[in-house]
Amino acid sequence: MSAIDGLPPLREVIAAHGLSAKKQLGQNFLLDLNLTAKIARQAGDLSACDVLEVGPGPGGLTRGLLAEGARRVLAVEKDARCLPALAEIGAAYPGRLEVINGDALEVDVLAHLTPPVRVVANLPYNVGTELLIRWMTPAQWPPFWESLTLMFQREVAERIVARPGSKAYGRLALMVQWRAEAKIVMTLPPEAFTPPPKVSSAVVHITRRDAPLYPADEKILARVTAAAFNQRRKMLRASLRGLAPDIEDRLLAAGLKPTARAEEIPLKGFCALARELAR
Ligand code: SAM
Repeated sequence: MSAIDGLPPLREVIAAHGLSAKKQLGQNFLLDLNLTAKIARQAGDLSACDVLEVGPGPGGLTRGLLAEGARRVLAVEKDARCLPALAEIGAAYPGRLEVINGDALEVDVLAHLTPPVRVVANLPYNVGTELLIRWMTPAQWPPFWESLTLMFQREVAERIVARPGSKAYGRLALMVQWRAEAKIVMTLPPEAFTPPPKVSSAVVHITRRDAPLYPADEKILARVTAAAFNQRRKMLRASLRGLAPDIEDRLLAAGLKPTARAEEIPLKGFCALARELAR
C-alpha cells in the first residue's frame, strides 16, 4: 500500500492493468506519489474546488489531487486502457472522481464542472500548448478556471514565463501574461518519469487576472505580436510595415522606437500599439 492512500503502488497498478507507455499518446508517467502530491499542492487549496485533470493515465497525479483534498476531480483520458485503474481510485474516493474517456481537445468539460475550477495536469506534450492557448483565449474573460497548474517541457515553460530581453520571450509569454500571472514552481529531471522523456520538465502555475493587465483589442494585439515576432530580428518599422501605411508614426504615438526589435518591447508597449492601431 502507498503512503498517501490505501491503494497499491503505481508500478503494481501499471503491471496489473498492462499499461505499457504509448509514445504516440505522450505517455511519460509519474510514479512517485510524494511527487504528485507536491505538484497538487502547487495548485493551492483545492478543498473548495473542482479540479479538471487532462490525461490522468494510471492516476498518479489524480491520487495526489484527491489525497490533497480536492473537492472533486474531473479527469479526461483518451486511452481506454487506463479506465479500470482510474475506477479503482474512484472507488477509494466515493463521489469525488469522474472520468471521461475522450480526447481533451474535443470533450466539452463545462457541463461536468462546478465553479470554482482549477486545472491541474501533467499534459501530453503533443497537446499541451494547444490546450494552453485555448484556455487563455476563451470567447469571454474571465474564463471557467481560476488557475492552471501544468507540466510542460522546460523550454516551453520558460517561454510562458519569459520577460522582455530574453531569447524565450515571444507570443506565448505575451498571450499568457496579458491576462494572467505565470511562474515556474517546480522543475523535474527526465528520470522523474517512466519512461524518461528526452528533456527536462517544469510545472507552471498560472493565475488568471480578473481583466487584462492593459487594455487592448485581443485580435489586434495578436496580429501585432504575430507580425513582430515572426521577424523578430528586424526593426519594428520593418516587421510591422504590413499593419499600417504610417507605421512609424503609429509606433511613435504609442511611445515605441521604430528601430526597436520585438524582444525589447514589454507587454505594455504592445498593448499601447494595439490601441493606437485600433484608432
Ligand atoms: N497524469 C499521468 C501522470 O502524471 O503520470 C499521465 C501523464 S502522460 C504525460 C499524458 C496522459 O495524457 C496519458 O495518459 C495519455 O494517454 C493522455 N492523453 C494523450 N492525449 C490526450 C488527449 N488528447 N486527451 C486526453 N488525454 C490524452
